[in-house]
Amino acid sequence: MTILNGKEIADEVLAECREKVGILQSRGVTPGLAVVIVGDDPASHVYVNSKVKTCGELGIHSRKIELPTETTQEEVLQVVRDLNEDPAIHGILVQSPPPPHINEEEIIRLLDPRKDVDGFHPVNAGKLVMEDESGFVPCTPQGCIHLLEKAGIETSGANAVVIGRSMIVGKPMALLLMGKGVNATVTVAHSRTRDLAAVCRQADILVAAIGKPGFVTADFVKDGAVVIDVGINRVEDSSKKRGFRLVGDVAYDEVSPRCHAITPVPGGVGPMTIAFLMSNTVKAAGG
Ligand code: NAD
Repeated sequence: MTILNGKEIADEVLAECREKVGILQSRGVTPGLAVVIVGDDPASHVYVNSKVKTCGELGIHSRKIELPTETTQEEVLQVVRDLNEDPAIHGILVQSPPPPHINEEEIIRLLDPRKDVDGFHPVNAGKLVMEDESGFVPCTPQGCIHLLEKAGIETSGANAVVIGRSMIVGKPMALLLMGKGVNATVTVAHSRTRDLAAVCRQADILVAAIGKPGFVTADFVKDGAVVIDVGINRVEDSSKKRGFRLVGDVAYDEVSPRCHAITPVPGGVGPMTIAFLMSNTVKAAGG
């Protein structure tokens, strides 16, 4: 069984980004990323800080815009309009989830698709469907595909099952897996799928993006499968200083002995997501 080390592979992606940032800077361009966060969701603040920190390490200019929970929809839209027009900013992301009174979809539609480094705007979603490489691909599924490639996993003709159909992970993941160059045969499972465990047991490659700790147990996994655990869930743990630990959607201890390869949580998909956010930002700046 191989543990797919996302941290190590992400560091390679980041090193490539750093090189490209250097080339852009020699041409007088400093890539700029604006991160907008509304409200005080603690996990979101951790993600945003880690994105800003990584920008700093690569020489990418970052601007963190923290807005209070009571910010109105119109105020957020105005922030996005201003960033769309700002020449120092090449990439914009609005951290999800915003507070419930904020309409996330309207914000995404307002983003300039050329600055939509999360790849959520309908133009970029359309380009992904059309396999038009000028668009931005959502960072997490892009990272998962890169992990599979780097680990030398045979995807062509493989049966892949994706659990989850979100716009952020499940749907783009399925599109990338079925795309040219990857060539898997893809099944998308979700909350209404019948006999989910039996569907998952068909998978040579199983991707879990559900948001439920330890949901995928050993009976979901056939011997020799490759398991990509996208889930990041906080579970209470009084033995930790912060009172919780992070676990994936896969019951790692019982599933890993069955696998040919598996991603750990943390240290699997998570670092890949940030690496591809940086990669998309460099691309937005022309690198
Ligand atoms: P989501 O809530 O938008 O989607 C969850 C999906 O799981 C839904 O499509 C739903 O149909 C499916 N689902 C729910 N219950 C199910 C059940 N009982 N059986 C089968 N399917 C079921 O979540 P999301 O944004 O796609 O995120 C999923 C997980 O991935 C979360 O834990 C999230 O924190 C994590 N995540 C991690 C990264 C990363 O960088 N590693 C990035 C994004 C999301």
